[in-house]
Amino acid sequence: MARIRIVPTVVELRALLADRRRAGSTVALVPTMGALHEGHLELVRRARELADVVVVSIFVNPLQFGPNEDFDRYPRALDADVAALETVGADLVFAPSVAEMYPDGPSQTRVAAGPIAALYEGASRPGHFDGMLTVVSKLFHIVQPDIACFGQKDAQQVYLVQRMVRDLDLPLGIEVVPTVREVDGLAMSSRNRYLSDEERVAALALSESLRAADRASADGLAEVLAEADAAFGAHDVQPDYLVVVDPATFLPVGDDATGEAVVLVAARVGATRLIDNARITLG
Ligand code: AMP
Repeated sequence: MARIRIVPTVVELRALLADRRRAGSTVALVPTMGALHEGHLELVRRARELADVVVVSIFVNPLQFGPNEDFDRYPRALDADVAALETVGADLVFAPSVAEMYPDGPSQTRVAAGPIAALYEGASRPGHFDGMLTVVSKLFHIVQPDIACFGQKDAQQVYLVQRMVRDLDLPLGIEVVPTVREVDGLAMSSRNRYLSDEERVAALALSESLRAADRASADGLAEVLAEADAAFGAHDVQPDYLVVVDPATFLPVGDDATGEAVVLVAARVGATRLIDNARITLG
């Protein structure tokens, strides 16, 4: 197996990929912000199954962080990330600097993520999804992948990326990979490493609320919300939002809704903001 290659510049990455494409290879992209865990590696394993060349980007994108968010202290661990990526067969690690991605300063042209981006995560993080779609769009243009893999863990992000691909006729497929969890249910996240031992226990409020929602799903929306809320209460954690949405529109479902739905939860545990979600079938 060829050794993994770290590529810091757009020019070099484009040249390497052009060679591979001329030889008939297909390309998969896994965009990440690094500090990789088993959830990220699962995306890479899936990408490995889907294409000949797997590019993992590692870039903490300043455009998607608010002024009071954790951009400066977001965990960065390139050496460990590269070592982990070697074990799952990634080919190229695109790890540009901020100046490489934004040589003219913060991008003036941005992708407007639209009305859904103002809800849920977007309500607490204004501009986050415009910044996310802008960098994802840049990565799509730089790498020109046949397919890109995203985690269901970030359900609103996946919805908006899929929507951008359809709205703007971007020529690639989006593969969604199920959320990878710790054995006790906590969704893996680079931010989990911020949690103290006590907060780590309280963080189970999110996954437990989703399990409670699932158990109540046959009884309808009001029961789902009540049971999920009770799970937060049991951990003395206040949800930032707890909402059940229609997977097709990402708008909240009505009181009498039946069928497929997605429960979205977010909460601050100590100073750490966590999110999670699960599919349920409302009865
Ligand atoms: P991030 O580095 O947090 O921006 O995440 C990069 C990609 O990994 C995104 O597509 C995330 O949805 C995905 N991801 C993060 N955590 C998980 C997880 N626990 N399971 C599956 N995918 C994940």
